[in-house]
Amino acid sequence: MASAPCPQCGHPIHRSHARGFVEKLIRVATGYRVYRCHHCDWRGWILRKRIRDARRLLQTSIALLVVLALVLILAYYVVDRTASAPPPPLFPTE
Ligand SMILES: [Zn+2]
Repeated sequence: MASAPCPQCGHPIHRSHARGFVEKLIRVATGYRVYRCHHCDWRGWILRKRIRDARRLLQTSIALLVVLALVLILAYYVVDRTASAPPPPLFPTE
């Protein structure tokens, strides 16, 4: 397997780990992968997986949006609860 060249310096690039929840979602939903160049420290996304089924891509995108919406609603709910009124003892404080 030949690795792709770095877009900046032309050296071979290597797979990099997706950082955090958002990058993992992008990786799963789009087929893009994070790559890194050890020579010049370039880091970026390159499409490695061909998505042939556009319908599946659409379904994945909708599922991604639903998950993001749920996360936002949950985050808003938590912020709203903790901002107003004394917070209930849901989370242990340190
Ligand atoms: Zn490079």
